[in-house]
Amino acid sequence: MSGGETVWVDDPPFPANAKIAVADDQLRRNVRKATTTIRQRRAALVAEMPDWQELRTSAAAIKDHVLANLDRYLEQFEAAATARGAHVHWARDADEANAIVASLVRETGEREVIKVKSMLTEEIGLDDALGREGIRAYETDLAALIVQLGHDRPSHIVVPAIHRNRAEIREIFLREMEDAPPDLSDDPHALAEASRRHLRKKFFEAKVAVSGANFAVAETGSLLIAESEGNGRMCLTLPETLISVVGIEKIVPSFRDLEVFLQLLARSATGERMNPYNSVWTGVTPGDGPQNVQIVLVDNGRTNVLRDEVGRQALRCIRCAACLNVCPVYERTGGHAYAATYPGPIGAVLTPQLVGVEHASELPFASSLCGYCYEVCPVKIDIPTVLVKLRHDSVRAKRHRAVDAIFASVAFAMTNRRRWGLALRSARILRFFRHNAPPPVDGWTMVRDLPQPPRQTFRDWWTKEHSR
Ligand code: SF4
Repeated sequence: MSGGETVWVDDPPFPANAKIAVADDQLRRNVRKATTTIRQRRAALVAEMPDWQELRTSAAAIKDHVLANLDRYLEQFEAAATARGAHVHWARDADEANAIVASLVRETGEREVIKVKSMLTEEIGLDDALGREGIRAYETDLAALIVQLGHDRPSHIVVPAIHRNRAEIREIFLREMEDAPPDLSDDPHALAEASRRHLRKKFFEAKVAVSGANFAVAETGSLLIAESEGNGRMCLTLPETLISVVGIEKIVPSFRDLEVFLQLLARSATGERMNPYNSVWTGVTPGDGPQNVQIVLVDNGRTNVLRDEVGRQALRCIRCAACLNVCPVYERTGGHAYAATYPGPIGAVLTPQLVGVEHASELPFASSLCGYCYEVCPVKIDIPTVLVKLRHDSVRAKRHRAVDAIFASVAFAMTNRRRWGLALRSARILRFFRHNAPPPVDGWTMVRDLPQPPRQTFRDWWTKEHSR
């Protein structure tokens, strides 16, 4: 499978965005405050765990085993989920995934869906794709709702509105939430209460929900979502139709493996011993919960990542965002500077691999290589090593582009007699550089000499000899 072109990556590139972001004092204060709090909570809870390193090693081993046998586990998952009444669909890329979800919603006759926060649906641009089909998607996670109402983009994997403070959130609610109380204060309880009342109506009216999944269990065909607010539980149990959009790397072999990941995820993501809500569902249970359960398994570039021996470890990621919370670069720029679905250290290694390093060539350089991200990663992704490898790929891709441009120019000159003559005469300029080529092709002459053009070209000599 292939794909990956629709993971959003915007211009301008990271250095230009970062320059703007670091000049925004408010943004830096908001991000620093939030990441420091989560970082301290995580550190305290991890210190309680005598077997933390063993858990990390187990998680990495389980994920590596799955990635080495992904085809087998995906088919096992499909068979188990189908046997329990779910319908499984396969999507090569974002367009296919969006088309499948839109057609499943259309089949229900509904024009509105409620959503559980999902980075994959961000990655494939699902909300916009549904909007183009006349289907409105309502985010139900508080932070995702703030981002949606603010016509914004997530800037953090776990806390999408980390760049907003409560005064800004109050302003967004008053401006965009039709039922926000006019005297709404910026007290966090008041803001949470306003969103709760707003969303409650949506939960009771909605007939279709769209979710992602944190884990997909091959043995049983089950999906699991871990969350803190209970909005996920509402979406997963109340509507008649549940459509889950799941990345193919989310597989774990057995139910027992969840024991390892759930200990790691909550502590790493939100600094909690356990997520307040862990919802697991397996196909359809007659008379209980959604009776129409659809699962869309999405590749969107993941099999390309799998091909790379060094880079494939990025597919172990459980999206806990611990690497973002400790990253000195992320803390200063926030997530928008990365101009991609996945910000921070994991974004710097995942995005270039999903979209092709030539489309995100600056991101592997958005790191000080301090190694803190590796230290906190619960699945032991050696992010610095992958970054260095991608830097190498990025430089090589740029060189290839320069070489392609040179050969295109040579071809253009050689297809016309006059142009070729002019090009040969102009080549004398290379004599100024002696044996070293100028940038961007100076790499060529690091290990070889640049041939020196003769003072007189053969054509000039011929013309001179025959004009006597
Ligand atoms: S790379 Fe590791 S630390 Fe970063 S989000 Fe993924 S699992 Fe968490």
